[in-house]
Amino acid sequence: MRIDILTVLPELLESPLNHSIVKRAKEKGLVEINVINLRNFTTDKYKTVDDYAFGGGAGMVMMIEPVFKAIEKLKSERHYDEIIYTSPDGEKFSQKLANRLSILNNIIILAGHYKGVDQRIRDNLITREISIGDYVLSGGEMPAAIIADAIVRLIPGAISDEQSALSDSFQDDLLAPPVYTRPSEFKGWKVPEILLSGNTGEIEKWRHDQSVERTRKLRPDLADNE
Ligand code: SAM
Repeated sequence: MRIDILTVLPELLESPLNHSIVKRAKEKGLVEINVINLRNFTTDKYKTVDDYAFGGGAGMVMMIEPVFKAIEKLKSERHYDEIIYTSPDGEKFSQKLANRLSILNNIIILAGHYKGVDQRIRDNLITREISIGDYVLSGGEMPAAIIADAIVRLIPGAISDEQSALSDSFQDDLLAPPVYTRPSEFKGWKVPEILLSGNTGEIEKWRHDQSVERTRKLRPDLADNE
């Protein structure tokens, strides 16, 4: 899989995409992630990527030309399954959407900045708009990193124990069960007996029951789909 992220602030994406599971997935050749600086697609000496909004008002707008040029260049090199714009008014990101995106070959994620990108880019080049939640961040870089991370960990082989990703919260509309590690007792706080029993069948049943109970208690909206 290939993920190309377009941004005016590539520095913001350096750390999140270069550690842990995403880093290992890149090293294993499971995913190629390119962070592309939109300033490389400008023509003036100041590498301008924003301009005043038509009609006035506070805040700058991401200009059409650098984004258009960057997307057209990428599209001339390969087919893209989705060209995503991160936006607070987009479709809410979810595990189900991450699952669907994880089986694609090539995607572009455009990280917005300032007041957002010129609407004509959204109308003519973007195939999907995604929000990571009902709040407004300064830029789309963190949303892009979140979307990329959620996708990459689902690519077969990205996590050594593939079952681990499948047993995470929201797969099967259930929250994950609680987890414990050594020591089995700390300051009188004990690990549930069943987890120390070695009885894998009973442990699996306990975990499932815990998932169902937690889902009913914390996210009854998910339990309806159970
Ligand atoms: N004026 C825009 C609005 O009210 O919807 C917000 C612009 S925001 C300051 C700058 C950029 O950050 C957006 O264009 C978008 O790319 C990104 N962004 C901010 N919050 C986001 C969210 N919740 N989900 C996805 N992207 C977000």
